[in-house]
Amino acid sequence: MDETALRQDIIDACLSMNASGLNQGTSGNISVRYGDTVLITPSGVPCETLMPEMIATMPLDGGGAWEGPCKPSSEWRFHLDILNERPDVHAIVHAHPNYCTALSMLQKDIPAAHYMIAAFGGNSVRCAPFAIFGTAELSAHAVEALRDRTACLLANHGAIALGTDLAQAMWRAVELEALASQYAIALQTGDPIILSDEIIDQTLAKFSGYGLAD
Ligand code: 13P
Ligand code: ZN
Repeated sequence: MDETALRQDIIDACLSMNASGLNQGTSGNISVRYGDTVLITPSGVPCETLMPEMIATMPLDGGGAWEGPCKPSSEWRFHLDILNERPDVHAIVHAHPNYCTALSMLQKDIPAAHYMIAAFGGNSVRCAPFAIFGTAELSAHAVEALRDRTACLLANHGAIALGTDLAQAMWRAVELEALASQYAIALQTGDPIILSDEIIDQTLAKFSGYGLAD
């Protein structure tokens, strides 16, 4: 894809995640792999003011080197580390959605209370332990929580969703917030019944070929 179009796609995704209430203010950030580099949203810039040239470029092996008129997201470490660790991943969406973030304050994994957990690769969405935003420690926790998964919570912070492209990462971010909200409501109402590993394995197989899941 043409680089300018990809930069505009990143801006459109930011705008849609704030317009839908999935994210708010200058929280959250988005990156997309582009060859040996990553295109990543700048730090602390309201998405309504973003222009394609304001998306920063970082070499994947540059240890934090960047180009652009604005400095990259403070979370560039986990974006780079995840992309370097996971060749299957081409886009990363980080946001502070209300229900994901509320559950992250409990510092517990989301269990298989709904079959849609399988959209994230297994029978749970892990909650990475707390670390200060923008640190190598947070990045290490996130990479570990994402092992064999395509989403995780970050304790007392928010969520990360991965995709083979930006559309898939955004789809997962939306589905994760829906799942988190349903689980949070169920927790207030009673004791959610957790689906068996066998059911989740069967669901994982069913997801092959379903919509944006592949
Ligand atoms: P940036 O504005 O630096 O991307 O930070 C937002 C955020 O969510 C930090 O975790
Ligand atoms: Zn954040």
